[in-house]
Amino acid sequence: MSNLLIRNIKILWGVNRNGFLKKSGVEMSDLESIDDAFLCIENGKIIEFGKMSDFSQTSDFDEIIDASDKMVIPSFVDSHTHLVYAGSREIEYIDKIKGLTYEEIAKRGGGILNSAKLLHETSEDELFEQSLHRIREIEKQGTCAVEIKSGYGLYPKDELKMLRVIQRLKTATRLTIKSTFLAAHAVPAEFKTRQSEYVDFVVNETLPQVCEENLADFVDVFCDKGFFTIAETNRILEAAAAHGLRPKIHANELDFSGGVQVGVKHHALSVDHLEYVGDAEISALLNSKTMPTILPGAALFLNLPHAPARKMIDAGLPIAVASDFNPGSSPSGNMKLMLSLAMINHRMTVRECLNAGTINTAYAMNISDFCGSIKIGNDADCLILKEIPSLEFFLYAYGSDLIETVVLKGQIV
Ligand SMILES: [Zn+2]
Repeated sequence: MSNLLIRNIKILWGVNRNGFLKKSGVEMSDLESIDDAFLCIENGKIIEFGKMSDFSQTSDFDEIIDASDKMVIPSFVDSHTHLVYAGSREIEYIDKIKGLTYEEIAKRGGGILNSAKLLHETSEDELFEQSLHRIREIEKQGTCAVEIKSGYGLYPKDELKMLRVIQRLKTATRLTIKSTFLAAHAVPAEFKTRQSEYVDFVVNETLPQVCEENLADFVDVFCDKGFFTIAETNRILEAAAAHGLRPKIHANELDFSGGVQVGVKHHALSVDHLEYVGDAEISALLNSKTMPTILPGAALFLNLPHAPARKMIDAGLPIAVASDFNPGSSPSGNMKLMLSLAMINHRMTVRECLNAGTINTAYAMNISDFCGSIKIGNDADCLILKEIPSLEFFLYAYGSDLIETVVLKGQIV
C-alpha cells in the first residue's frame, strides 16, 4: 500500500466533520468545503485534510498531486443497479420507438423474461466478464461503491449464478460492492397464472439457498401495480427478515402501490423509484429510517412522470439519487449524468444532488460510516475535477467529461 498527498486543492468539497450518516431536508443544501486545501491518504484511507496553511509534511509520500485551480469532490456511490446481466436490449428499444406492442417486443427478444432466458443460456464466466466490463466503465466515471441486484435468474440455479458473479466482482475489483437478492422481479412463464405459488417457491426454495451460501447483503421485491402485491411483499420480507436480510424495495414506479408503506413497515434501508408519491407516502417516510431514492435515468428512458423530489426535500426528507443501471430501462451507470438529470428534471440544486449521490446513497447501502464523504478514517475515494469555473458548472455541463483523476481506495484509476 502507499501514501498519496493531494495539495493546493482549490476547494475540497463534501467534508464531513460532524459524522453525518445522511443529509435530510435543508441539510441537503449544505456541502461543507475547505478552500486551498490538502488531503492525505495512507493505505487506502483518508488520514488527514485541512487548509494548506496548516499543512506540515511529516512523512514522505509515494505520490504527490498538485491540484492547483482544481476542485475535489467525494466519489459517487450508486445504491441501485442491475449491472449483472447478459447481452443488451437496444433492438427492443428501437422496436418501442417504432410503436411495437409489448407482446410483439417480447416475441422478438425483449422484456425481463427474455433477459432471464439470455442469462440462463450464458455461462457464469461469461456473465462475470460482461459485468466486469461494466464495472470498469463506471469506475472510470467516478463510482467508488455500487449495489448490484439479482432478479434475472427467477429460478434458484440462475439466481445463485448471478449472486456468485456479484461475489466474484467483490474480490476482483476495488469498488465497495453490496449484493441484493431481488427475490421477486417478474413471474416466470411456468407460473403465469399462479403468482402466489411462485411467491411460495421463492420463499421456500430460492431464499434458503441464497442464505445458505451467504450470497446476499439485502433483499428486494418489485412491489408495484402489475407486479407483486403488498401481501406478497410482506410475505417475502418476513421470510427474509428471519434470515437477517434488510429490504431495499422497488416501490411506486407505476402507481400509488403501497410499496413505500410496506418498505417502511419492514425498516427498509431504502425505497426506490417513487414516481408516484403523495402526502401519505411522505408522512410514512418522515417517521422512518428509510432512504427515499429516485432513479432519474429510468424516468428519462421510459418517459415516466418525475418523482416529486423537490416536494419531498422541502418536507424535510432526505433524497438519494442512483442509476438503476439495467438493460431494459436505464442502460447507463454514469452517476454524473444521473445527478444532472436530478437537477434538470427534479429541480434539485447542485449541492443537493451531490449529497444525494454520495453520502445519501452510501446510507442506502449501509456504508455511510466509512464511504460517501471526506472524513478521517473513510475510504479514500475522491475525484479531482478538471478546471471549471464553479461547482455548479460540473452538473450544468451535463454531457462533458469533467473528471480529471479518479482516486479509488487511495489509488489512481
Ligand atoms: Zn431497479
